[in-house]
Amino acid sequence: MSGLRVRFAPSPTGYLHIGGARTALFNYLLARKEGGTFVLRIEDTDVERSTQESVDAILQAMEWLGLSYDEGPLYQSERFGLYKEKVDQLLESGQAYRCYCSQEELDAKREQAMKEGGKPRYDGTCRDRTDQPDLPYVVRFKSPQEGATSFDDRIKGTISFNNDELDDLIIQRTDGTPTYNFVVVIDDAEMGINLVIRGDDHINNTPRQIPIYQALGYQVPEFAHVPMILGSDKKRLSKRHGATSVMAYREMGYLPEAMVNYLVRLGWSFGDEEIFSMADLIEKFSLDNVGRSAGVFNPDKLLWLNEHYIKTGDPARLAVLVAEILEGLDVDISGGPDLTDVVQTLQDRAKTLVEMAEGARFYFEAPQSYDEKAAAKFLTEDKREVLELTVKKLSELSSSSLEEVEIAFKNVMEESGLKFGKIGPSVRVALVGGTVSPSIYEVVAVLGKDEVLARLQKALASLG
Ligand code: GLU
Repeated sequence: MSGLRVRFAPSPTGYLHIGGARTALFNYLLARKEGGTFVLRIEDTDVERSTQESVDAILQAMEWLGLSYDEGPLYQSERFGLYKEKVDQLLESGQAYRCYCSQEELDAKREQAMKEGGKPRYDGTCRDRTDQPDLPYVVRFKSPQEGATSFDDRIKGTISFNNDELDDLIIQRTDGTPTYNFVVVIDDAEMGINLVIRGDDHINNTPRQIPIYQALGYQVPEFAHVPMILGSDKKRLSKRHGATSVMAYREMGYLPEAMVNYLVRLGWSFGDEEIFSMADLIEKFSLDNVGRSAGVFNPDKLLWLNEHYIKTGDPARLAVLVAEILEGLDVDISGGPDLTDVVQTLQDRAKTLVEMAEGARFYFEAPQSYDEKAAAKFLTEDKREVLELTVKKLSELSSSSLEEVEIAFKNVMEESGLKFGKIGPSVRVALVGGTVSPSIYEVVAVLGKDEVLARLQKALASLG
């Protein structure tokens, strides 16, 4: 066990996005690698936009990816008491103040500042106010006005902001609810987080947060801001570039290990290596190899990885996943061949589990009709003789092992004097209804003698 404590802090206002999943993965990997602790915190202070449905979707996606956490999920919505205490503490120590400026006043000040060519920042009217009128107010943090706030980002290097750029941040709204930049500091500090790994869309928040740590007497953690993910047109990744929800890829027949492998490579590299299991990653991952520039989302690469993991996957496990998809397609697999055997014939051909399920359908549903073009070419009267011979040879088999099937077809070729190219396509159309399938020998072996004979007889009856 090391003392490393990291966290993933999603806002439950939608599904788990590719970018969020990558942030979660980086946190997870580092925690596992260093024997640290991975905390999951649900940032649901925005009660209007946060939903239980989104929380569930995020938890499911993390489970699917295999990102287990050690503490949590902790909910910010259950911690309002703590945040209130901290607001009061800052008010008492004079590091925060009540601001009674109305929206109209603030708008007018902003306009005035812009007119004068200045920055539209709060001018500090209420900073030194001592009265407490009976008016609505927000609480503002007294941000430092001189000097600079800097930090050594573990990915981006030293980052420095001039404090005169920061105005006095609102930490509590008129309705009494605390704001993001405030609660994130309290939570990270109270949860003992010592390394904050998050998307670089938060990098401008960090110099606002650091003074709050200091004012509350907390240790400032280290930060690592992960570059964002872009689409192929170098614009921020969005739905225009394809699905951005992690779970949408599950629906499309992707394996979680392909997604994990893909996500990690969006920003992290290890020489020229492309294929990483979770165990490899836990061993090899480090922030030192996270690049500073944005990653570009490439769906072809993800598909390529998926194909790899399907090819090399354990057939019994793939069978369980394909069974679910077949059920969704209303294919009844009971009474059909063993799905693990079926999967083995398709592993070299399918890029997704959905493709695999579609390719497996014919094993469980005999063709009701034949593809017209294929039948016109391969199920013609002149094939009757060789198809009958095939029926004869296959019916003599004592088992449907691949070896025996091969021998049977060899005999058919010898007796008919025909090459396999003159026999196989007709058998294929008879068995699967079209011209695409795994190798005929495999199909025959997996379908089994009885089913194959029934399908061949049916095709024979359809000839002419
Ligand atoms: N809740 C924030 C978000 O989902 C993350 C905050 C953080 O990581 O500091 O963008």
